[in-house]
Amino acid sequence: EDVVNRIAAAEIIHRPANAVKELLENALDAGATSIRVNVKEGGLKLLQITDNGHGINRADLPLLCERYATSKLQKFEDLQSLATYGFRGEALASISYCSHLEVITKTHADSCGWKAQYDSGALKDDPRPTAANDGTVISAEDLFYNMPLRKRAFRSASDEYTRILDVVTKYAVHNPQASWVCKKAGSALPDVSTSVDSTARANIALLYTPSLAAELLEVPLTHFAPKLGASCHGWVSNANSNWARNGGWILFINNRLVESTKIKKAIHGLYTAFLAKGASPFVYLSLHIDPAKVDVNVHPTKSEVHFLHEDEIVDAVVAAVDKALAGANA
Ligand code: ADP
Ligand code: MG
Repeated sequence: EDVVNRIAAAEIIHRPANAVKELLENALDAGATSIRVNVKEGGLKLLQITDNGHGINRADLPLLCERYATSKLQKFEDLQSLATYGFRGEALASISYCSHLEVITKTHADSCGWKAQYDSGALKDDPRPTAANDGTVISAEDLFYNMPLRKRAFRSASDEYTRILDVVTKYAVHNPQASWVCKKAGSALPDVSTSVDSTARANIALLYTPSLAAELLEVPLTHFAPKLGASCHGWVSNANSNWARNGGWILFINNRLVESTKIKKAIHGLYTAFLAKGASPFVYLSLHIDPAKVDVNVHPTKSEVHFLHEDEIVDAVVAAVDKALAGANA
């Protein structure tokens, strides 16, 4: 059974950046307004995420890392949002199967914090009281220590760190209400650092370049036909810009960072002249789709998403972006 669980874990946590994404989403789900990521050796030695969210009750600690343990399926609507988030309660379990996992957490009601360590889905000893701030610190040490082949496949810690920075950067653009820090352990200067109550555009200026942010066009919040049950909002490069520069691609659907080859291709179709010059556009889009219409078969590891009325929704997104581009160049 352990082997089965370990294989399942390795499917979900392909590399450190996958674990980071899951942990960031948990921090956001907990209402955190401060999220700090601390990384050693590309996350293979240490991944530590500190948040100031609502914390975890002492009583929930024993089962925290059981597979399918989740506090997020209370209502029928939550069940429907399975569609957005894939299978529930697998992230911490998976991480506990392929690392040494420690959780320090304190709720506002608790007078002290609790420290708990997990191995392969199970709590190791009774949680111990400890000094802590409100919120949660999750530390995953020695990722893939028990999967030597997987571990050896990572050639470069700096490559993995780049992927982690990319994930944190994109979540910081999409969640500017929170302050974000990402740094290598022991380094004085963080590589990502934003302040609380910022905006998407200000964070793009900070984390990409100010000139890119200055030139971005807003795609105003657009609700599509009621039948589609979807909307979009975003910031995109001006297709008539002459500036050659590196772009970016950030797509969130229902607040989850995803890939959609269809949407990307279709949007890039608006930038053919731009792309022909060797530049690549910056595109940040946030879509909301009725959770009941997002493909429930999509596992969280498969970041490529599908949804009902896909062609119509893609057309509607393209039309919204096209309108923003046309308006700017009229
Ligand atoms: P899911 O997020 O799908 O519920 P996870 O395995 O990611 O599953 O997390 C399991 C549970 O642990 C969550 O439902 C939540 O109750 C709790 N949890 C995890 N991380 C945090 C956090 N940073 N703050 C508060 N609760 C957390
Ligand atoms: Mg989660």
